[in-house]
Amino acid sequence: MTELHLMTVAELSAALHAGRVSSVELTRALLARIERHDRALNAFISVDAESALAEAAAADARRHAGDAGPLTGVPIAHKDIFCTRGQKTTCGSRMLANFVSPYDATVVERLRAAGVVTLGKTNMDEFAMGSSNETSFFGPVRNPWDGARVPGGSSGGSAAAVAARLVPAATGTDTGGSIRQPAALCGVTGIKPTYGRVSRFGMIAFASSLDQGGVLAISAEDAALLLGAMAGFDERDSTSVELPVPDYTATLEQPLKGLKIGMLREFFAGLDPAIEQLIRAALALLHAQGAVVREVSLPNLPLSVPTYYVVAPAECSSNLARYDGVRYGHRCEQPRDLTDLYERSRGEGFGAEVKRRIMIGTYVLSAGYYDAYYLKAQQVRALIAADFERAFHEVDVVIGPTTPTTAFSLGAKSADPVTMYLSDIYTIGANLAGLPAMSVPCGLLEELPVGLQIIGPHFSEQKLLNIAHRYQCESDWHLRVPRGFG
Ligand code: GLN
Repeated sequence: MTELHLMTVAELSAALHAGRVSSVELTRALLARIERHDRALNAFISVDAESALAEAAAADARRHAGDAGPLTGVPIAHKDIFCTRGQKTTCGSRMLANFVSPYDATVVERLRAAGVVTLGKTNMDEFAMGSSNETSFFGPVRNPWDGARVPGGSSGGSAAAVAARLVPAATGTDTGGSIRQPAALCGVTGIKPTYGRVSRFGMIAFASSLDQGGVLAISAEDAALLLGAMAGFDERDSTSVELPVPDYTATLEQPLKGLKIGMLREFFAGLDPAIEQLIRAALALLHAQGAVVREVSLPNLPLSVPTYYVVAPAECSSNLARYDGVRYGHRCEQPRDLTDLYERSRGEGFGAEVKRRIMIGTYVLSAGYYDAYYLKAQQVRALIAADFERAFHEVDVVIGPTTPTTAFSLGAKSADPVTMYLSDIYTIGANLAGLPAMSVPCGLLEELPVGLQIIGPHFSEQKLLNIAHRYQCESDWHLRVPRGFG
């Protein structure tokens, strides 16, 4: 039997089903791995061994009672943006460093109902604002492929934990690329579903019209298994879509013959030639399976970063207004009056990047500038969505790189926010248009992973997972493990 920590969720599910391992054994083995490796990586903000083992024992009991599903007893981790009842949920911020949620997020609740065991909560950029995990109050996460480099962000802890095989899968959220970008930089598979596919209830809000929960895993098959358990209508999220959830695993094997792939011209203009070569090699593999590849153009796509950096801060300034030191979250010592309470609680509780976004957001929403910035950004957002819609009349999916570079060094971009914002140049478009998108490992450049991005029309998750799975049947990049973690 393959070593437990190297097994995919699908393999673990089979091993649990066959009685080759119990959930308690598996949970112990992974807790020991976290104990051994996480000091160096800092991928976890909290690990709750006691509750994980209790959940594992309950999963084993369920199995003995003949009541187990495919995920029963499989241990995973949650990004610390998802509320977990009775456990800390910090969102990577001092503001919530001691916040214990009174309820589970819908995503957490559904995965628990499927029998999944929660090992812990993963590190992240503060309030999911960042592309490198360096804005976390709990310190940066290190990339398992090279400890001097960032794992990407904001779901950097989840990506690093999966890449280092501390967990077989983890949840993440993606507002502008936070699942796909760290997945690419850590060499794991990530999916951001269609906006509205996964409930945002209990997922701490950053930019509500863009935020979407999803999965980081070893393989597309595992992403399909977990997404199926997380997705679906939730009356507690008014933007959740009332559509049945298909069995994402049922269509993974479908042949790709006749699939029309659009190569995104705007993503290849100025792209690093070494990354371009790997993306083209991946396209060649899909072509060999019968897909036809042609170029498509989305002329407004280059406007996505400036558009996002108006819309996302605007929504964040409104969402984060709730942290006032009164109801919950950090409260300053001995406030003089109410204004002092607000000012010092927020001043002490939020880090620099969060403050920057709140100020930009407040500015673009102010009466004098609303039309010039916020309204304009909404108009451009509609143009970008229309570009994608037009492209999907011609092709089934569009493909390009996930990121412009491989993992960069810690500190390399933290002094210059705009350089950092450009890390998401290829991922933000899908969020603005609400589209599902994936990142799939497609090569290594100087021992650092590169991701292939696949974007499809609304609710085409099945198609994306099918393409990613067929690609992974013909390649083994997703199975590569960083040195020292095998
Ligand atoms: N890096 C982007 C930002 O800083 C996206 C973050 C995200 O998707 N949560 O806003």
